[in-house]
Amino acid sequence: MKRRKFIQNASLSSLGVVAGATALACKDETKTNTVKTENKTEGSLPLVIATWNVPNATAKAWEELQKGNSSLDAIEQGCKIEEANAEGQSVGLGGLPDRDGNVTLDACIMNKEGNYGAVVYLQNIKHPISVARKVMEETPHVIMAGKGAEQFAISQGFEPENLLTEASKKAWEQWKETSQYKPIINIENHDTIGMLAIDSNGDIAGGCTTSGLAYKMAGRVGDSPIIGSGLFIDNEIGGATATGLGEEVLKTVGSFLIVELMRQGKSPQEACEEAISRIVTKNPNFKDFQVGYIAVNKKGETGAYSIHEGFYVSTYQEDMAKSYMPEFHNK
Ligand code: ASP
Repeated sequence: MKRRKFIQNASLSSLGVVAGATALACKDETKTNTVKTENKTEGSLPLVIATWNVPNATAKAWEELQKGNSSLDAIEQGCKIEEANAEGQSVGLGGLPDRDGNVTLDACIMNKEGNYGAVVYLQNIKHPISVARKVMEETPHVIMAGKGAEQFAISQGFEPENLLTEASKKAWEQWKETSQYKPIINIENHDTIGMLAIDSNGDIAGGCTTSGLAYKMAGRVGDSPIIGSGLFIDNEIGGATATGLGEEVLKTVGSFLIVELMRQGKSPQEACEEAISRIVTKNPNFKDFQVGYIAVNKKGETGAYSIHEGFYVSTYQEDMAKSYMPEFHNK
């Protein structure tokens, strides 16, 4: 089932916001096998795994790993591919704006030492993942927001630019007209990119980048840049990252939960399933929203699970790109 169809069926419109859209068609995936439903769990290193159908991003990250670069470099370079893709209306350039027409970006990155950097409500800078890395590496802080984050980015050499593409502006104008701030259905190519990588030294890094929920209230920040929610890495154990309705991920500190469950002995798959179960048991409205998680452990085993059908995962492992729809809760 296509994501578009899923969103329609799941009546996301009742949320008052629009979940980022997703993708499903693999373009130019020469080496990508698309598998209908699968939970790949066998371990093998190095590896890259990302939320949604983003074969170009995972291929770039894989290329970095093949050059002998670190998992952190792989994450940054991989995420940048989608941030620069103007057609993707939920990340970086071309991201759908908030209800006032501002494109505001959230991103974070974590390295093998457990260091973390994030930007929230960043405007006019195409590569929030790289700014997040600069926050981690060049400042004594971990999160920078809004104007200050933008000024910091410019001081680091990032060029400010208008991120609202004609297509996204048109979609926003249409949304304003027809829905009068009521929700509509989002039909873009993909949403938040959460990516985890393990390099040939066995070191894990992760990143998460998004324009957040389309037509969100001005000032809204989701799970994606928040450590433990949108992303968590513990190089002794593994890593996890999230996509979907950020409010639900935040309330259950989903990615941290998954890593802690793996620490207690659960497989990445079992841990993702347990984190989804926390959400659905606490919120009876789960039929109206989607959340998806991916995880890896130190052995290179992977897991992925979502509330509903339609979540996709991309991997690059054993020299092979793959895209598959994982098992889901609401059958
Ligand atoms: N998790 C993101 C947020 O809530 C949105 C998404 O993944 O579509 O901002």
